Amino acid sequence: MADGDALRRTAAALRTALVGRVAHRLDAPTLVGPRPGRGRVIQGVAGEHRDLEITWDDGLILRTELRRGGEWHLYRSSERWRRPWESLSVAIQVHGWTAVCFQAGSVETYRRFDPVRHPAYGRPGPDIGAPVVRLADVTRSLVSAIQDDVTVADALCDPRVVRGIGVVFRSEILWSCAIHPLAPMSRISAEDCATLAGHAVDALQASVRGGEMGSPTHVYGRSGRACERCGDTVTTRRDETGELIYYCPGCQVRHDPAELTAPLERPTERPMDPHPAASRFLAQLPWRRDTLAG
Ligand SMILES: [Zn+2]
Repeated sequence: MADGDALRRTAAALRTALVGRVAHRLDAPTLVGPRPGRGRVIQGVAGEHRDLEITWDDGLILRTELRRGGEWHLYRSSERWRRPWESLSVAIQVHGWTAVCFQAGSVETYRRFDPVRHPAYGRPGPDIGAPVVRLADVTRSLVSAIQDDVTVADALCDPRVVRGIGVVFRSEILWSCAIHPLAPMSRISAEDCATLAGHAVDALQASVRGGEMGSPTHVYGRSGRACERCGDTVTTRRDETGELIYYCPGCQVRHDPAELTAPLERPTERPMDPHPAASRFLAQLPWRRDTLAG
């Protein structure tokens, strides 16, 4: 597996099967480092040189170093493995698929330093992945972020506001609420906060149970495909840290920031009297001019 092209092809295949899904089971007998949290969603797979890296949406990265004989296979859940269990280094099970790495030189997890995710960066918000989570706490924390000069997408991934929403859930939650991801927090109402909190808690609890997020996502990873709610094309934007936000421009229009900057259109007034002379006369009245001529 020294071939870089082969490794990139492997990464592409793993990406198709794993990204956007919850790992229901992770076997890694020689793993050095922390394990991904319960219910976390796989966000990316990348192959470079001899390393294959799998990133979870809480920022944890699993790296396998592939030296002589080291390789990743992808199997359907019921399929028989082509190499024996004894040479297993990592097995990741998601809905429908098992990705298996045999004979890796090393298997480790680490976190890339991210000042926004760093827990020391302010007081942490409520954790929606905790076994007991109070919806009122999540709502209250979101409401307190209304005064921040940030977008709703950035607020949802800010651990000082709420912990446990990664980039996958963020896109899905905003789609569920039909809210534009770049909506400024200042436009978000307390009622919106309650709705967002409800969808956030539901999504994460469902993924912990191995339900909803184990199945394909609504917008995450679906760039260029049709929105299942309105048929428009799902697209992406980047947030302030460069992470992708997936959304549907057709139906996620609540608090669309473009609406805030677009010039206000004057209502077009049609004269009730069809006679052209009468219309002209009405248009020339000084008190009518600014409404009709504008
Ligand atoms: Zn849509």
